[in-house]
Formats: sequence, C-alpha cells, structure tokens
Amino acid sequence: MHRTRSACFALVIAIAFACLPPASAAAPLCAAVPPPEPAAYAAHIREVNRALGIPPDYAARHDLRLQPEARDLVPVPRDVYGRKVEMVAPAAAALKRMFAAAARDGIKLETVSGFRSVAYQTHLVRLKLKRGMSIEQALKINAVPGYSEHQTGCAIDLTTPGVPAADGSFANSRAFTWLQQHGASYGFSLSFPPGNPYGYEYEPWHWRYTAGTATAANPR
Ligand SMILES: [Zn+2]
Repeated sequence: MHRTRSACFALVIAIAFACLPPASAAAPLCAAVPPPEPAAYAAHIREVNRALGIPPDYAARHDLRLQPEARDLVPVPRDVYGRKVEMVAPAAAALKRMFAAAARDGIKLETVSGFRSVAYQTHLVRLKLKRGMSIEQALKINAVPGYSEHQTGCAIDLTTPGVPAADGSFANSRAFTWLQQHGASYGFSLSFPPGNPYGYEYEPWHWRYTAGTATAANPR
C-alpha cells in the first residue's frame, strides 16, 4: 500500500514537471504582466528613487509595477528631429506594420520617444527638479525611474505633422482617431487615458505594445 502511494506520488510529481515550461523558457517580451524582477534590481531602483527624493511608498500608492529594462533593441523610424529611436524586436515589427497601414489610410505617424534607460529617465526627472519643480510635479510628467513603460522598449510616443511632440492637442488629430480605431489590431493600446490611476497626466501620444493582444489575425 505504502509502495503504491509512493508510486502515485512520484507519478504526480513527474506529471507536474512535464507540464511546467522548461526552465529556459522566458516570459515573452512585452508581456501584459512582466515577470518579477531580481531583488538586486529592485534594490537598485529603490536607491535611485531615494536619491531623487521620491517617497518610498510612491509606487505602491499609485499602483505602479516595476518594469524590466530592455537589453536587445532594434531601430524604429527616427524621431521628428532625426534622432535614433529604438524598441524591442516584436514591438518594432508591430509598429512598422501599423505605420504602413496608417500610411495606406493617408495618416502619417511619427515617433517622438521609444526606449529610455533607467539612467536616462533619472536624468529627465533630475532636470525637472533643477528647474525648480517639486518631485510631485515632475512625476506627473515623467514616470518614476524603474517604473516607466519606456524602459521596457515596448512603449512609444507618437505624433503627426503639425502637432508638437508630447502635446495634448494630439488627441484632436486624425492620427489619434486612427490609432483609437486601429491600434489594437497591431497590439498597441493607450496607457494613460484621462483619470488614469497612476497619477500621470492624460497622454494621448503614449502607446504600448503588448504581446499577444493584436486583434487582427493578419494585420494589414
Ligand atoms: Zn511616453
């Protein structure tokens, strides 16, 4: 009896292991829920934010999730000033398809900002503080370092001719209307709508690619 029970137990363990993904299988890039980050990374981010004077409970209070920092990046169309813009490969491929589809509909989409490192994000917040902003004001405009979607390489700020970069008037453009109608077909969604719970201002220009969410089986 004891031996039978042991055999069953061993079988259950074997089945459980067989059903687990192999250890090498990493979560896809741009997953809806990013995998937990190593403790050392979390500690580094806490230190970066402490140095900026960000309250230690700020992220938790605003329901912000620690974001991975992308390593392997590929170029996407250069920004409106001709500067290099990068994203991770699956997001870049989806963006390319989306730009082409928009162009076929007579809409010109342009990039403003793609991947930004934790260090660069820290620099942006520090600049705001140097100009006399409070940390609370700065964090309505720039994400908390470690928590920015831009550091994942999955998010992109977009504009269209005639609209200044990262400007609220983008919401009134034909390009924005097109994105609202078609962005999801390519896996892109608006991260910060009006009244978002994260404490950020409405950002009609900021779109994030999420793996596996493209609604069109064969996006144009
Ligand atoms: Zn953005």
